[in-house]
Amino acid sequence: MRRSLAQRKIACDLIRRICIDQADRLGRMEYEETQIGRVEHKPEKLVLAGERALGVEYLRSEVFSGDHGLTVEEFAPWGVIAVITPVTHSLPTLACNAISMIAAGNAIVCNPHPSGAKIACHGARLFNQAIYEKLGIDNLICVITEPTIESARALFAHPEIRLLAVTGGGGVVRAALASGKRAICAGPGNPPVVVDSSADLDNAARCIVEGAAYDNNLLCFAEKEIFVEEVIWEKFIAALKAHGGFELTTQQMNALADKAIEVPAEGHPHARREYVGKGAAELAAAIGVRVPPGVELLFGQTGPEHPFVLAEQMMSCVPVVKARDFCQAVEMAKDAEHGYRHTAIIHSRLVDHMTHMGKVMDTTLYVKNGPSLAGDGIGGEGYCSYSIACTTGEGVCTPLTYTRVRRCVMVDNLRII
Ligand code: NAD
Repeated sequence: MRRSLAQRKIACDLIRRICIDQADRLGRMEYEETQIGRVEHKPEKLVLAGERALGVEYLRSEVFSGDHGLTVEEFAPWGVIAVITPVTHSLPTLACNAISMIAAGNAIVCNPHPSGAKIACHGARLFNQAIYEKLGIDNLICVITEPTIESARALFAHPEIRLLAVTGGGGVVRAALASGKRAICAGPGNPPVVVDSSADLDNAARCIVEGAAYDNNLLCFAEKEIFVEEVIWEKFIAALKAHGGFELTTQQMNALADKAIEVPAEGHPHARREYVGKGAAELAAAIGVRVPPGVELLFGQTGPEHPFVLAEQMMSCVPVVKARDFCQAVEMAKDAEHGYRHTAIIHSRLVDHMTHMGKVMDTTLYVKNGPSLAGDGIGGEGYCSYSIACTTGEGVCTPLTYTRVRRCVMVDNLRII
């Protein structure tokens, strides 16, 4: 809080450099520790954090100038922020959070997911060392080496921590919101895709495979279920196969769901841990199916109430549901999203369809005619963060997300007009 903006920028730039220059090594370490997703995508996620997370340049002030003088609103730090990171992208989330939080003048104490704690600690050590050597600030980013639910609770309850920044599933979001403190919650999603009869089917299939298979579907905004108008069904299925999709029969989808998805008596079905982040070949093998090399994604026809539709599966298999028409497809998409208001995707050439679905879904990210990745600045315009605060409404997190607004008023003076 006491250092200059220029020094904050230096700290952010050091984190960016490490993410970019050491992406291969750090990405491999993350994969080796977590054993989920695809090793080739881990470095890309770090480079993206380094290149596209917003920093000091995004900070600004608001000015109100009028007959009664001049009022300035500035964006001030909170202090030490308690950060919770998911196993799906441990270091990329910490790096994005750190760049934007430090840019805003904060320090960080992080309770990472236990299965991604080693890489979070290692990354933080590299960041801290570089920052200390250049600026003399020690431990700007603290990471708990053996994180537990209790250590997270202790952070939430600590009197010196006034802001929580949580990225994870429903359980941790509920815990943060119950803490009584201000919490920025990047909670779960279950992004549906609607493909209507006007869509460029070749582009739709290519984009869906790209987004849904990326890092084996670990990203919270990745395509998780597809609703297709029945008049284009055959053509769309053929296009999915042409772009690296492998079709399972409905029986095979059921068999895989029995293994990979837990259906509790209450609440939404959810993925079993041992299947999260698994690739198409491994999932197929689990039900005794062999897929040819080059297959990126499994898919298969299901009904709208299938566990693969209702669960946030986070693995390389997506259900495809036939809809009578566009309106029914959007209705089913709305139900499947569970009101998380996270992400929705449409493939269509009709502006009124895009508008209708956008209004109905009411999601934080809404991507048209591209892979879901474009919603987070990957192949689409805009910046990137791995924390999409859909639950509490801040959107894709920026340095301003981690600030308090302070107002400074000069009465009847300083306006020079
Ligand atoms: P998870 O909910 O199992 O764990 C997330 C973090 O919360 C971990 O650090 C975990 O240790 C901690 N945690 C879990 N329960 C807790 C509790 N009761 N009290 C305190 N801490 C607790 O999720 P995950 O498997 O690591 O990540 C996947 C989930 O995160 C998905 O639901 C995904 O959609 C979501 N996610 C959301 C975003 C977003 O930007 N909205 C980004 C990434 C992941």
